[in-house]
Amino acid sequence: MSRRLESKAHPRGADETQMNAVPPPGARRTSTQDENRALRGLLQSLGSDAAHNQQVLRRFQERELALLSAGDLPRLLECLTSGMRASFRLDSVKLKLLDPFFVIRDLLVAQSETDRCLMRDIELCADVGAVRAHFDDLYAPWLGEWDPARHLPLFGRHLNGSVALLPLRQADGLAGFLCLGSREPGRFRHDQATDFLAHMARVAAVCLENAVNRERLRLVGLTDALTGLYNRRHLEHRLEQEVTRAQRYAQSLACLFVDADHFKRINDRYGHAAGDQVLVALAQRLRTRLRASDLPTRYGGEEFAVLLPHTGLDSAKSLANEICAGVAAEPVPLHSGESVSVSVSIGVAALHLDNQRDTQASGRALLAAADRAVYEAKRAGRNCVACDAQAGV
Ligand code: GH3
Ligand code: MG
Ligand code: MG
Repeated sequence: MSRRLESKAHPRGADETQMNAVPPPGARRTSTQDENRALRGLLQSLGSDAAHNQQVLRRFQERELALLSAGDLPRLLECLTSGMRASFRLDSVKLKLLDPFFVIRDLLVAQSETDRCLMRDIELCADVGAVRAHFDDLYAPWLGEWDPARHLPLFGRHLNGSVALLPLRQADGLAGFLCLGSREPGRFRHDQATDFLAHMARVAAVCLENAVNRERLRLVGLTDALTGLYNRRHLEHRLEQEVTRAQRYAQSLACLFVDADHFKRINDRYGHAAGDQVLVALAQRLRTRLRASDLPTRYGGEEFAVLLPHTGLDSAKSLANEICAGVAAEPVPLHSGESVSVSVSIGVAALHLDNQRDTQASGRALLAAADRAVYEAKRAGRNCVACDAQAGV
């Protein structure tokens, strides 16, 4: 085996040739000069191997440090994919993550900043089926030659070189696989030592586990326990981001304020638990009418605020009318067997792109306008939609 930690393709490199120049014990003696020359060559080759190994070690340590200091889940995933590709000069890096209960998917969807490019290198899978065939031992790295039949589905394109498939092991099982691909045929060899790669994969798996747990905890603080919608705190955070985005890219942004009508009466007549059921049903009805990029939130009590990126006032109004009609048309079934008719009043407002206010002020003005519009709808008799008098803010 080569003394190099990360060997290049050199089936019988200069160092091996020089090693063989040292005569075995008992062979015919060569002159001292020849022996000295051979030893000098060997020394030189050992020196160059040591320098190469040091370089490899440094690169592994840099990557590990980057993994350990990645601030959040998207940054960690970026570090594991494009970071890894650049640092180790690889042609392709794919990350397969096991996510049978959509935990990671939901966390990434919640991160509005999650880069679409990042998702090209990541696949969230329900089970290990797709990669099982590559491993004798699912928990140990597999290195070897490119085999189109087996590796093309993993990488999605031809590399015709060599690959390293690294299982990401966590305390309670496999978290996924990091697939490294190179066009160099000898870059990853079956007989190559894998200690460094296995160690790095272990660090990556632990970092991933921590990042997912951190992100989940953060989300708990931003989620309403009754309806599962985001809460007002999250809305305020996202509002600023969405206003910034809308202003920067001259995109429309609308907001709906949805308030249940005479909700107190529902509580009084059917009880607070029934009122809770109605709130859950309202949240569900909102969700089903929205796009993945929309943000429905429970603003407080029986009020919901919805941010609609890429949506102008007219489309927002149509959507609000749809929601309003849909809610009123379908009474909410209660656990008791009864059903409750409920209606909502909706205020609509949209962001004016030509105003020069700062993002926070613009966001606040958007919410305030939608809130004013709800009062307008209440005054108009409830179970209806109203736009803020200024139409946009
Ligand atoms: P309006 O049509 O004018 O909006 O009338 P309303 O009765 O809906 O409005 P009001 O503000 O008078 O009452 C809101 C009610 O919503 C009072 C409060 O007890 C109820 N509420 C707020 N949060 C919850 C909750 O989490 N669960 C239940 N069951 N009721 C809630
Ligand atoms: Mg209210
Ligand atoms: Mg109300």
